[in-house]
This record gives sequence, C-alpha cells and structure tokens, in this order.
Amino acid sequence: MTNKKAIQATNLTKYYDDFLAVDNISFTVEKGKCIGLLGPNGAGKSTTMRMIIGTSEKSDGNLSIFNTPVNELTIEQKTKIGLVPQDDNLDPDLNIIQNLEIYAKYFALPNNIIKKRVPELLKFMHLEEKSHSQVGELSGGMKRRLIIARSLIADPDLVILDEPTTGLDPQARVMIWQQLLKLKKQGKTLLLTTHYMDEAERLCDSIIIIDGGKVLDEGTPAELIKRHTKPQVFEVTKPLPKKLDNYSGVSEDIGTSVLFYVDNPTDFQKNLDTKTIYQHRLATLEDVFLNLTGRSLRV
Ligand code: ADP
Repeated sequence: MTNKKAIQATNLTKYYDDFLAVDNISFTVEKGKCIGLLGPNGAGKSTTMRMIIGTSEKSDGNLSIFNTPVNELTIEQKTKIGLVPQDDNLDPDLNIIQNLEIYAKYFALPNNIIKKRVPELLKFMHLEEKSHSQVGELSGGMKRRLIIARSLIADPDLVILDEPTTGLDPQARVMIWQQLLKLKKQGKTLLLTTHYMDEAERLCDSIIIIDGGKVLDEGTPAELIKRHTKPQVFEVTKPLPKKLDNYSGVSEDIGTSVLFYVDNPTDFQKNLDTKTIYQHRLATLEDVFLNLTGRSLRV
C-alpha cells in the first residue's frame, strides 16, 4: 500500500530553554493536499515550520516527512522539499535568471534540466519580462513570485510556504493563489501559514489552528465553520433595537456594533426595525479563528 502521508507529526514538542513554544502537537499532512497552519503571532507556527524544514531541532515527539524521520532525510528527499520563506533572501546582486540558476546549482541539478526549468518557471510565475532585471529593481510582488519560482526549481513534491502573500497587492495575491492551486492540481503537497483567512479558505483543503503552542482544532474550512460558529452573521450597529435587549442567542459586543451568530436569518430579522443599521453575511473562517483564539492583540 502506498503511503499517503507527506508529513506526520506526533506529540511534537519544542522548548526554547524553559519556554514551551510547541506543546505536544500531532497532525498529518496528506500527499497532494494543501494544509493551512493558522494562528495568531507567537502561536508556534514558525517554530513548527522550522522543525519541518530542519532548521530547528525538536525537543520531543516524532516528525516524519515522506515517511522518514526529519533528521534521517536523504539529500534526494530534502531536494523534494521546496521552501518559500517569509523573508526576502534573494541575492540582490543577481538578476532573476541568475537567482534561479544559482539556487539550482545548490541542488546540483544538471545543466540541461536547469536550462529547461528556468524558462518554465519564469513563465509559470509571470516573470519573463523582467528576467534580466536585478532583484533590487523588482516590486515586492515580483520578489515573492521569484521566491516561489525558486522554491520549485528542483520540482519538489512538498512546498512549504511561510506567509506567501503578506504585504502584496490584491492582483499579486490572486495571481499567486491561481498558481498555487495549479501546483496542487499537479499533485504537489502544500503547507502554508497565512494571516489571511480568505487565502486559507480559498487554498486549503484542511486547516490546523494553533495557539499557545497547542492545536485548537483542525478540519476543512466548512467543518470548522460548522463546529465553531453559526452559519450566518448579523453585525448590528449600536444603538441596538429594543427587541435585542434580552437576546439569548450567541452574540459578541465588538465596540460600535454587536455580532449576532444565527442559524435562521429570517427569525433573527424579526428583531430588527426600519431604523436598524446592519450587515448580514455568511460566517467565515475569520469568525472561527477569532472565536477560537480571541480578539485580544498579540505582540
Ligand atoms: P508564530 O510563528 O506563530 O508567530 P513562533 O513559532 O515564532 O510563533 O513563536 C512561538 C513562541 O516561541 C513565541 O512566544 C516566541 O516568542 C517564542 N520563540 C520563537 N523563537 C524563539 C527563539 N529562537 N528563542 C526563544 N523563544 C522563541
């Protein structure tokens, strides 16, 4: 039987001295799926990613990639892991093509493969026009696209993306989403962190929500919405209509307005009057996320 697991973490734990950053977490990333690791700042996402890519050692538990413990991965297996780091670590003295070629050389790819793959990746990430530009001349969006192209140079089976679209304009984000979905269609496994809930909802087959180093829940976006919130949301601007004074359903005061999470919008609307200012929408992953991790700011 073929093994369907790209990543398997069991009771994975990480201490920084006495500080417990990742607390006994277990999860599986199935091959060919896109999994989102979501959590507020300090939740333990980067630490988990670092253990997966082998730049940080686990303190306890088991972590396997392609069914092999991370510290026993062969060079060939490591070559099959593409990495999109959060920071721009491109070489500013080189142009786009040179950045890809140098990276390909780290993997000792043969020249004929490099000559074939570089133009393919330039095309895939829409970088052809600027292929001879120095990295310093590129926009933030182009740099991200180049970092993604670079992560694909050795045709990886697993691509780890740490906040792939943070700080980009909507056009660049949508373009990157389209290409990531194409990678998934090609059968690649994607593991990504993001602070954009819409991104996670669009791309991810399954979401793992972590906070305080612990897994709070995991499931498909639809499952999480079903488990942790009501299907529809009314945001009613204060002052609230009288009929809502003694409302006994699920609600949350968020300052100038109150969120009401409801099963039946028609029933709820009976509480509103003609003067009520409100917005009505479907519940989203953001509602789930805030519900599970709270609204207090993290440093
Ligand atoms: P996230 O990526 O979700 O923001 P991190 O994994 O970066 O979270 O951090 C988890 C916790 O571990 C935080 O409290 C952070 O301050 C702490 N931490 C991260 N890296 C180190 C480190 N190298 N040394 C000590 N503490 C760290």
